[in-house]
Amino acid sequence: ATPTAVMVATGVGATHGVLIKGGDALERAQNVQYVIFDKTGTLTQGKAAVTTAKVFTEMELDDFLTLVASAEASSEHPLARAILDYAYHYFFGKLPTDKDSGKQRKEERLSEWLLEAVDFSAVPGRGVQCLINGKRVLVGNRNLLAENGVLVPTEAENFIVDLEMNTKTGILVAYHGTFIGVLGVADPLKREAAVVVEGLKKMGVCPIMLTGDNWRTAQAVGKEVGIEDVRAEVMPAGKADVVRSLQKDGSMVAMVGDGINDSPALAAADVGMAIGAGTDIAIEAADYVLVKNSLEDIITAIDLSRKTFARIR
Ligand code: ADP
Ligand code: MG
Repeated sequence: ATPTAVMVATGVGATHGVLIKGGDALERAQNVQYVIFDKTGTLTQGKAAVTTAKVFTEMELDDFLTLVASAEASSEHPLARAILDYAYHYFFGKLPTDKDSGKQRKEERLSEWLLEAVDFSAVPGRGVQCLINGKRVLVGNRNLLAENGVLVPTEAENFIVDLEMNTKTGILVAYHGTFIGVLGVADPLKREAAVVVEGLKKMGVCPIMLTGDNWRTAQAVGKEVGIEDVRAEVMPAGKADVVRSLQKDGSMVAMVGDGINDSPALAAADVGMAIGAGTDIAIEAADYVLVKNSLEDIITAIDLSRKTFARIR
């Protein structure tokens, strides 16, 4: 393709809300063999919401929710937001205001109803931990509790399995070394997700799902969206390794993601595509920005590349 054709294609992309950073990226997209999708915020709406809270000890539900919300108040993770919104709604009968001002909300809440959490830390790919009333609080997945020697009773384990088979994520809570309860979180698929996956398959492109979430939830979501190749429980640092392992035999790999976690994989991919609503770091690492946040534009981008370079093939 001539420089003019590339310029025209870049302009056509832009009018469709597909920002292309350079002619090389435009050219590579035509040959993509794999499209790796991040799950949360890319295939799903990224609007996680708590659907269930269940206590498995004598602790009152009020105390359970106060504990969990207090532990999550310092977390930046989307799951933390979902938990805080749920707990706030439970206590005050409405969702918190100042949606955009997390800091202000946190202070307002602290004075109102949250307990003081000290020694807070986020455990990547696991959850959060802190001290409340001098006792260790753990909020996260099974691995977080297992690594801290907390046993999950069978009754609770069955409850979590049931959530996971229904595409939900179970968030486990431990207090002072004892398992306390579970929150179930749902994050619906984007409405176009299944259609786009089907469309890619028809174009001869293989879709893959990549997530830090647990295997059972990931597989249930994969089934719902039509992706057979699911890579779950991948640590944030491991996402780029998945890209590189696919590239080993010379395959062309596209990665679609929205999070800070995804940026090394977006950079490692032959074609990195960031969701426009994603974090700045992801957008910076990508070759394409899907401004309208629609997965359909993955197909638009590949089509555009194929059409632009077809005549010189
Ligand atoms: P992803 O965004 O792909 O799900 P993450 O590495 O961010 O990957 O998280 C992996 C898993 O770790 C989550 O599915 C959840 O189970 C757990 N987790 C991470 N952060 C939190 C948190 N703040 N609260 C509860 N669980 C968390
Ligand atoms: Mg994500």
